[in-house]
Amino acid sequence: MQLVSLVVPCYNEEKTIPLFYAEAAKVIDKIQQNRSVNFEIIFIDDGSKDKSLKEMKILAEHDERVRFVSFSRNFGKEAGIYAGLQYAKGDFVATMDVDLQDPPALLEDMIGILLESDEYDCVATRRSGRKGEPFLRSWFSKKFYSLINRMSKTPVVDGARDFRLMRREMVDSVLELSEYNRFSKGLFSWVGYNIKWIEFENIERAVGKTKWNFWSLFKYAVDGIVGFSTAPLLLSVCVGILFCCAALVGIIIVIARALIFGDPTSGWPSLVCIILLCSGVQLFCTGIVGEYLSKVYMEVKKRPIYIVKETEKGRGKNCD
Ligand code: UDP
Ligand code: MG
Repeated sequence: MQLVSLVVPCYNEEKTIPLFYAEAAKVIDKIQQNRSVNFEIIFIDDGSKDKSLKEMKILAEHDERVRFVSFSRNFGKEAGIYAGLQYAKGDFVATMDVDLQDPPALLEDMIGILLESDEYDCVATRRSGRKGEPFLRSWFSKKFYSLINRMSKTPVVDGARDFRLMRREMVDSVLELSEYNRFSKGLFSWVGYNIKWIEFENIERAVGKTKWNFWSLFKYAVDGIVGFSTAPLLLSVCVGILFCCAALVGIIIVIARALIFGDPTSGWPSLVCIILLCSGVQLFCTGIVGEYLSKVYMEVKKRPIYIVKETEKGRGKNCD
């Protein structure tokens, strides 16, 4: 019998966990009637401050298919996904959000696609529209995807969700990428394999609010670009060269003018503007280099991606 693991990262989701479980259990039971597959649901408690962990424990007590991994603090969704993939024992592993924005009903088709042929190694989902999303957020998202796809060799699909079902080989490949700065959308694409994309209409969160605000999305976008492209470094070199050339032309003009017309000392306001512009560009380029340096800094520290406090098996040493 093949095992399908559902990895579900949760942060302050006490209200959505029971809703998700009810929906997922219904779908799982239906799939199990038609196919000989087993399931495990692994909830990752990403350092929730509400009663999420308690909800997970209640579910794990009543249903042996439910497992949970609780972090010592909030490490972020990417860390949650990584931990889930490490703990998952399945031949197939799905990652999905707990807020029902990734409809569990799709699992039936996704499992069908992977079980019935060898053609695909992964079934991934993307939303066809951005219904219900604020206009500005949609606009910036679209710009981000077109920018990262121009800068990086790793394609990042616009509207791709983290809801995907993978074969074990692909999961193992993703786990080999043990980098600290994790940008899952890029990592899943980087490992390759044959991916079947299915689309669905954007669904709004069941209850509660998204954890993302504009600033965190901006940081996420920068992480994605820095993690999968070195084009910004090249850009800063090009801007540097451009400004050097402009300065050279300027110097020649100034010298020629001084030789031909004498040397009037006018023009200091324009000089101030030029100095401001150049130092702005310099700071910008130093900032780009700094971004890469900060990633290297975090990487060389080799800190763990997450710390587990408790699992369904117990605390401390009993966690695994
Ligand atoms: N999440 C997480 N850790 C975090 C933030 C979010 O595990 O630090 C989980 C969250 O509980 C949910 C999923 O990631 O299951 C997606 O979060 P959210 O719905 O806030 O994001 P959105 O759907 O708006 O992209
Ligand atoms: Mg959501």
